[in-house]
Amino acid sequence: MNVPEVIDVHVHYTRNRQQEKVVFNHPGWPDEWYNANPEGISQWFQDEGLAHIFAINYIDINRIIDNRVARLPKGSDEEAAARKELQPQMTDRVRQFNEWVCEYAKTESRVTPYVNVDIGVFYGDQQAMMNELEERLAQGAKGVKIHPGLSRFYPGDEKMFPLYERLSSLGVPILSDSGSAGGREPGSIAYGEPDNFIPVFEKFPKLRFIMAHLTTAFWDERIAIAKRFPEVYYDISGGFYQPNGNGRARDAHRCVPIEDAARYLKTIGTDRCMFGTDAPGSEVRGYVRTILGLDLSDNEKENILAKNARRFQSI
Ligand SMILES: [Zn+2]
Repeated sequence: MNVPEVIDVHVHYTRNRQQEKVVFNHPGWPDEWYNANPEGISQWFQDEGLAHIFAINYIDINRIIDNRVARLPKGSDEEAAARKELQPQMTDRVRQFNEWVCEYAKTESRVTPYVNVDIGVFYGDQQAMMNELEERLAQGAKGVKIHPGLSRFYPGDEKMFPLYERLSSLGVPILSDSGSAGGREPGSIAYGEPDNFIPVFEKFPKLRFIMAHLTTAFWDERIAIAKRFPEVYYDISGGFYQPNGNGRARDAHRCVPIEDAARYLKTIGTDRCMFGTDAPGSEVRGYVRTILGLDLSDNEKENILAKNARRFQSI
């Protein structure tokens, strides 16, 4: 097999080296290793063998808010007031980051911009969410990132419907986190559990959708979804469970074990799985090596590593 082209559809790109150092800190690393940003992109692409990335915007603003109010008495009026004050500030941060990535991508053809717009980061304000969506689409956003787990909403929340409707009619895709990350309401299942997306796929059968983290916790639910909903694609960020192997399994032993990786990818359909890593939180090259080592044909590997993404996004 020749050196394959690699497209990573799940990168948390940052504005600059300094921001990457803060958000994805690795103690002891030299500054020159923080390269998932405009300053380092060429070096990074060379080091990791990348041809193209999708910049998947997300800021975990709820965690920032939780940290800021952590010293206030839980459930107090004081805490509630502090949250109320912080929320719009954090939403603005998301909006500014979205604006930045769209402007930036106009100057960098190797980056496809996905903006974060969901009801969670707008704290229930549907109109504000839709305004942001329209503004970014006009600005050139090529996709939308949602994160039910960290933004704390169920994907089937009706407040999301206008957004799904609009994207469905335009053919603009969503990439959504799925799985165990983030929260759950007491006594219920995780916001991002794959089965929670079924009402969305039923109601919006034409919505173009990338369900992230195919290989991670609740992987069994993703098989049934693949069979029922042909418009659903997957990214394989999160990795396979392989003690001491390359890459990092986000849910450890809850991920698909490496011994079953090829069989699982074939069951889902190797033309529907796209390479992704969650970089810079995870490394790229190790995971490419893992995929190349699987019992798949060259054609299947090339599809997963780049060609499916090229077709999906028309790049
Ligand atoms: Zn991610």
